[in-house]
Amino acid sequence: METLDILIIGGGPIGLTCALEAQKNNLSYLIIEKGTIVNSLYNYPLYMRFFSTAEKLEIGDIPFISTAPKPGRQEALEYYQGITRQRNLNINLYEKVEKVSRENDLFEIETTKGKYSAKNVIISTGFYDIPNLMNIPGEDLPKVKHYYTEPYPYAKQKIVVVGSSNSAVDAALETYRKGAEVTMIIRHSEISKSVKYWVKPDIENRISEGSIAAHFNSELIEIKEKTVIFRNEKGEIREIENDFVLAMTGYLPDFDFLRNSGIELQGECLNPLYNNETMETNIPNLYLAGVVCGGKDTHLWFIENSRIHAEMIIQHIVSK
Ligand code: FAD
Repeated sequence: METLDILIIGGGPIGLTCALEAQKNNLSYLIIEKGTIVNSLYNYPLYMRFFSTAEKLEIGDIPFISTAPKPGRQEALEYYQGITRQRNLNINLYEKVEKVSRENDLFEIETTKGKYSAKNVIISTGFYDIPNLMNIPGEDLPKVKHYYTEPYPYAKQKIVVVGSSNSAVDAALETYRKGAEVTMIIRHSEISKSVKYWVKPDIENRISEGSIAAHFNSELIEIKEKTVIFRNEKGEIREIENDFVLAMTGYLPDFDFLRNSGIELQGECLNPLYNNETMETNIPNLYLAGVVCGGKDTHLWFIENSRIHAEMIIQHIVSK
């Protein structure tokens, strides 16, 4: 079995950036990705727009040309998949990494399709695969969606949107504009401050004019076939008719995978332990890159500010 210099787990924007950096430094590498290239972006809402401008999403100093100030999902797919094709990056697709273990000075990596050996491993698995569940009765009903794709299935339906961050607000506005009757159930006292600055007035105005109903300081407590039950701001229990629940309650990194790889998780947010100058974890030669680094705090890292991880890691590997 060939021993790679680096095995990169996850072919998202940051995994690809690590591969470009490894290529530049003549290191042997392989990306293993469980879906398609930039699989998280492929699963984003179809008509989403990034909050970042195109140049902030660029990797490997390769220009990202967009006709709009902020690119959309399709342009980003074209960009990142185009780079993979053009730079002939080594990537295995539809192959999931199941286990990383350290044998002497090398890593053994077990996947759904085989075994690999590498001197260094970079985990860049993101956080978009595991929904942050509400853990309430009825959450497993088919009418409950943790991923929102497009508004058309919800025309003339009674929708509950849970949450008040960007995903929740986008879903509420899009479905409302396709004729859904939208009720937002929000644990906090206001729309999240991190909502895109050009979208926030739109949702606040729709709520204040009554086009979209919103219950702040409220909590969904049960989902039934035809209704939902929630506790409102006055602590009263209310039951309303409902066809679909869009639970936009966020996503979490795969903590079991990190733990089983030997990485220490610390504090309430289960922050993985790593050196923030080299990105090396408590396991020597095992690195973290991209949004997986934030633990439960998934608002900490973006493509914008985590692209730099690739250079930090490869420089550290080269310097050893
Ligand atoms: P990901 O893109 O999530 O890549 C991780 C990859 O690892 C995935 O392809 C996954 O399939 C794969 N994987 C996971 N586990 C395994 C395994 N065991 N084996 C093999 N492969 C595995 N950031 C910005 O900078 N600007 C923005 O405007 C912006 N907008 C966003 C909008 C939305 C709706 C969301 C959800 C996020 C947004 N972000 C934005 C944040 C950032 O874009 C994403 O989180 C980004 O995808 C992070 O890149 P990543 O490479 O770290 O992780």
